[in-house]
Amino acid sequence: MATGFLTIDLDALARNWKALDRASAADVQTAAVVKAEGYGLGIGPVARTLARAGARHFFVAVAEEGAAIRETLGRGPDIYVFSGHMAGDTDMINDLDLIPMLNSVDQLTRHLEALPAQPFGIQLDTGMNRLGMERAEWQAVAEIALTAGPRLIMSHLASADDPADPLNAQQLAAFVEMTQGCGVPRSLASTGGILMGKDYHFDVTRPGIGLYGGRPFEEADPVAHLDIPVIQTRDIDPGEVVGYGGTWTAPAQCRIATVAAGYADGLTRHLSNKGHLFHDGAPCPIVGRVSMDLIGVDISHLTSEPRTLQMLGTDQSIDDVADAAGTIGYEILTSLGARYKRRYSGAGA
Ligand SMILES: *Cc1c(COP(=O)(O)O)cnc(C)c1O
Repeated sequence: MATGFLTIDLDALARNWKALDRASAADVQTAAVVKAEGYGLGIGPVARTLARAGARHFFVAVAEEGAAIRETLGRGPDIYVFSGHMAGDTDMINDLDLIPMLNSVDQLTRHLEALPAQPFGIQLDTGMNRLGMERAEWQAVAEIALTAGPRLIMSHLASADDPADPLNAQQLAAFVEMTQGCGVPRSLASTGGILMGKDYHFDVTRPGIGLYGGRPFEEADPVAHLDIPVIQTRDIDPGEVVGYGGTWTAPAQCRIATVAAGYADGLTRHLSNKGHLFHDGAPCPIVGRVSMDLIGVDISHLTSEPRTLQMLGTDQSIDDVADAAGTIGYEILTSLGARYKRRYSGAGA
């Protein structure tokens, strides 16, 4: 078979959730962010595993994703929608019991008019300027909103991956100031916020990337393992080139493996002549341009002929690949291709 094997370790996912849960006090609820198909790893198995690990609160980007989780998990868990209550979402929110995080006065009005009895939350902007009500907007409607009884008030940190960034403390101060004494459960921390300590925890934390094995949760266990079959190997002479455009020239006699994945599988073309695949712990450099379905790899130093080379796993994290490609682990995960043969391992499989 000439497709990569993507193994998703559900036990590692559960361990990562439990570790992040232990990082906050017992009375802090640890939720799980499962937007974009559980960061690309498959919404059904991911949501089931996290629910079994103990998660009772799930966050998604859009109502459609919330609907998928409700189908998977049934009634019970709280499902919050970051994009709030958009035109056209009303039936889904109502029928599937989703909790929209209302981002504007328009959304608040829409929700209270269309579904006055349906739970909602409020998202505040504390400096990221992406989603949520600004301070003045919130002041104008806070009384109406609080009277209607929101389930949660949240905001999002723009630099949680960098604890040294003063923006974190500024956002924390703004959040405290905007929500002091509101009597509603509050949430500010994503993965990075959890690691910054209890001032950032409030009542509910919202880890995403750390669950899936990514920075800044350095102790995370890897969840995605990607092995790519070698289709062909060849010996080339010094001066010969590899791949489109001939961008890599062999400095000496070399042995080249061609593996069965490329940019159409989410292995971005920015990995051309950068980064590595691994064989039994030995790094093997990517040589030449990444093609749509194929990548050239220098295996001259290997003593045996590999049948597969590993892109993700214990030797190389999503962040290692991201660093080589000039992106972030989130993008590597959510780009993992549809062609891979996916296998789920662990108790939730
Ligand atoms: C994606 C997201 C999270 C999770 O962030 P991670 O950095 O993946 O832990 C939390 N809150 C909001 C609003 C998000 O968009």
